[in-house]
Amino acid sequence: MCGIVGISGIESAASQAYLSLYALQHRGQEAAGIVAFDGTKTRSHKGRGLVSEVFDAEALARLRGDTAVGHVRYSTAGGQDISNAQPLTARFSRGDLALAHNGNLTNHLDLRNRLVEEGAIFRSSADSETLVHLIAKSRHDTVDTQVDDAMSHLEGAFSIIMSVDSAIYAARDPRGFRPLVLGRKGSGYVVASETCALDILGAEYVRDLEPGEVIRILHGEVTNLRSLKPTDRPAPCIFELVYFARPDSSIWDASVDRARREFGRQLAREHPVEADAVMAVPDSANSAALGFAEESGIPFELGLLRNHYVGRTFIKPLQEDRDFGARMKYNPVKEVIDGKRVVIVDDSLVRGTTSRSLVRMLRGVGAKEVHFRIGSPPVRWPCFYGIDMPTRAELIGSSLEIPEIEAELGVDTLGYLSLEGMVDAVAQGGPYCTACFSGEYPAPLIDVEKGLASPEGPRRC
Ligand code: 5GP
Ligand code: MG
Repeated sequence: MCGIVGISGIESAASQAYLSLYALQHRGQEAAGIVAFDGTKTRSHKGRGLVSEVFDAEALARLRGDTAVGHVRYSTAGGQDISNAQPLTARFSRGDLALAHNGNLTNHLDLRNRLVEEGAIFRSSADSETLVHLIAKSRHDTVDTQVDDAMSHLEGAFSIIMSVDSAIYAARDPRGFRPLVLGRKGSGYVVASETCALDILGAEYVRDLEPGEVIRILHGEVTNLRSLKPTDRPAPCIFELVYFARPDSSIWDASVDRARREFGRQLAREHPVEADAVMAVPDSANSAALGFAEESGIPFELGLLRNHYVGRTFIKPLQEDRDFGARMKYNPVKEVIDGKRVVIVDDSLVRGTTSRSLVRMLRGVGAKEVHFRIGSPPVRWPCFYGIDMPTRAELIGSSLEIPEIEAELGVDTLGYLSLEGMVDAVAQGGPYCTACFSGEYPAPLIDVEKGLASPEGPRRC
């Protein structure tokens, strides 16, 4: 997954982008980058690591100008290479281009093969680079129509922010898989993945970009370019509401916190249990656990503490404890758990590895009963639209039935939110993409169909 931001017409745009990226850090911790344009020159700074590690005051001061594009990256295979760090930059016939992309194209290998046959030379393995080539090659006679033309070839998930000199372009794919919001600050504009990136700048939320919408922001004016071809129905990703977006953000016109609380309430209705305390696996499940507590009347307790300082650079010393990974991140509060029947709520169950360790930790401090509740249905299918799910074989929900998962996790009972319950809880924003839960893929998986990509799922942003 990734987080993206674009700043137009605001002084020290790079510093503004930096703050926004800070707020979007949860969407990607592997690399960060900002490209700024000052009217004559484009400057770029990218690196591996957290936003705070990649940038210092000197780097930001060098990135002059009132136009900037920023990106935080989260990826695995094919992604560690710094050449894949974004924004991607290129100089083409009409100016300097910087591109930040969130999502995953489902036809990029097909497009890439064709471009390579026609002589294109790719600098990275990122799917986003395909768009750069398509724009540069487009025979249309203005940047606006070149961008429009290039985007019409893309299939899959893309929220894109791009600058060509001082023009910022922003687009959402026709199904609107990934979020993108527009904000205003003074006479300038901000586009970003989530509203939390506007809040930190004191920018005012204007609206969400519509699925298929392409806009250009230039000299304080927002212009709608032709919309991308409409589809049968939009399909924003429901996993953004389950896990990915921040609860203080509002995406697709809805509060993420409210959605998660409703998931928790519905979960309590579907899987009631007699217990002494409800607790969350912090922080991603806090809102869902509060919803569960509100609906069930069981008190919410802070039974698990999370260490927020476990960073990438942590050195793993030789250790024998099989739960060490989870123990580094979470620690139970014995006084809250000892002798109690506890309900522990998580937002999703993916591999089951963290959960198994947590259950052992709770038993270790005297939990009398452990009831696991999950604020979403079993994750059974890989995501081809930008969420970094493990492959099918690693998904605990794809191979095991509920009683087997209960045994595997060592819980007294396990309850997942139903697919209908989840979708109904946020019906006003739907219909959604539920592919990771249902196996129904709204956008064609062209590279998979053509045998160019594995049906087990991609592993990049
Ligand atoms: P598990 O117990 O399946 O190993 O891990 C479940 C936890 O992973 C949940 O707390 C959930 O918040 C978190 N999670 C869900 N999706 C993702 C993801 O895409 N990336 C990361 N880092 N964590 C995730
Ligand atoms: Mg979590």
